[in-house]
Amino acid sequence: MSCVMGIDVGTTGTRAVIVRADGHVVGAATGDHQPMRMSKPGWAEQDPADWWEATVHAVRAALGAAGVAGSEIAAIGLSGQMHGVVLLDKTHAVLRPSLIWCDQRSQAQCDWIADKVGSDRLIRLVSNPALTGFSAPKILWVRDNEPEIFERAAQFLLPKDFVRFRLTGEFATDVSDASGTLLLDVTNRRWSAEMLGALEIDAKILPRVYESPEITGRITRETAIVTGLKAGTPVVGGGGDQASSAVGNGIVLPGLTSATLGTSGVIFTYTDAPKLDPQGRIHTFCHAVPGKWHVMGVTQGAGLSLRWFREQFGHSEAWYARETGVDSYDLFMKEAERIPPGSAGLLWLPYLMGERTPHLDARARGMWFGLTAGHTRGHLIRSILEGVAFSLRDSLEIFKELDIPVEQIRASGGGSRSFLWRQIQADIYGKELVTLRTSEGSAFGAALLAGVGAGIYSSVEESAREAIQIRECLAPLAANVQLYDRQYEVYRHLYPAVRDLAHQLAALGE
Ligand code: ADP
Repeated sequence: MSCVMGIDVGTTGTRAVIVRADGHVVGAATGDHQPMRMSKPGWAEQDPADWWEATVHAVRAALGAAGVAGSEIAAIGLSGQMHGVVLLDKTHAVLRPSLIWCDQRSQAQCDWIADKVGSDRLIRLVSNPALTGFSAPKILWVRDNEPEIFERAAQFLLPKDFVRFRLTGEFATDVSDASGTLLLDVTNRRWSAEMLGALEIDAKILPRVYESPEITGRITRETAIVTGLKAGTPVVGGGGDQASSAVGNGIVLPGLTSATLGTSGVIFTYTDAPKLDPQGRIHTFCHAVPGKWHVMGVTQGAGLSLRWFREQFGHSEAWYARETGVDSYDLFMKEAERIPPGSAGLLWLPYLMGERTPHLDARARGMWFGLTAGHTRGHLIRSILEGVAFSLRDSLEIFKELDIPVEQIRASGGGSRSFLWRQIQADIYGKELVTLRTSEGSAFGAALLAGVGAGIYSSVEESAREAIQIRECLAPLAANVQLYDRQYEVYRHLYPAVRDLAHQLAALGE
């Protein structure tokens, strides 16, 4: 049976997975990246050459682990960290390190964009507000601050598309990743000439845009020699990491939604048409399913909240875990399990790093509300699990406002390893919560897109039917749903009631 390969260019490493048509992962390997450089507060850079080295390592090691020859790979799909800016000169040399997704230095450029284009027109042209995370403000930062470098820029690429260039020699991207640049007309799935004109960015520096399963180029002879892949193997558009991961989770039909509970948390759902939030609280991007879109909301401090608690208050658990080899998170889960739903009236706001959805507020701050002398450490832990799920529910409520259907939620990410946290999510979302057999995420989704490009599947929807299997399906418990609905009403009014005080306090803390 022929195989396909997915390559995900992440932040900490690049992962290659080899997948059979029935969805079975036959081999996988990761090449690590150098830690991102944060030479000033808010700056975050990586060297594109490092992604390429990690790709070569991961591809070779995955072929070795699978015992598969390069000639058995029918096609390759790429996925990657979104929003990063790679600039090449006319000889195709990298001009400066990449400003990656979490680089925050471009607030002045965002303000300039909002001023020049106007907030309403921005949503109309590119479906999203100007945020420092997006690519266009980063490109403008280079233009404003390093004009001698910008003058020599002949090509802009996103991180996975730099790897594509090294694999195939082609300058190309896909609609889902391009949606995070703030330069794509998301509604019409092409670069926005009006936006480029307003920002005075030359369209010549942009790569060609494809739908995610379309073939964008083929493995070159030089690449075949260093990677073990076969020259001529097609490489499809692929997707941004969120859209690819959604394909890997089968989020390819109306009503299917994913909740990824990693360091940050993401609620993502499929839409048949571009659904715009006039307030810009959620992102509206092209999906990796041709001619479809998706919306997503983000909680910055999701798994991070529990990790913070573990680091600050879990020294004895850390010691016990080291001595016995158990996972220290499992110890916290046992402690939280003994506490009844609702944590006896204790609420946690997870805004440890400000908040994106729904507040779009970098100065938001976390808090416990409702503490009494009766609360124990177990209550603190359970309230964190509940507060994070309430915060993800905020995104679901915005989807409801916009008439976007949500029927089943598919859970992934480190936080969903815990049964307790999965049940809490099912109860707080009030929806069936499903986990899947494979948890390979973005690289797996990219491999399925390659399968569509190679004609192994007739469509992305068919790839999901053929390759994705459900492992567990948790129903919400009716009594808990009622309790949590009432508690959520308090949760969602809490931050707006203290916002001004939180800002004052944040200013004093600075
Ligand atoms: P990242 O987003 O960095 O890729 P992960 O998806 O691995 O991270 O998620 C990491 C988070 O998942 C941790 O911060 C922690 O909150 C949570 N987590 C990890 N393991 C467990 C576990 N066994 N039980 C509950 N939560 C866990």
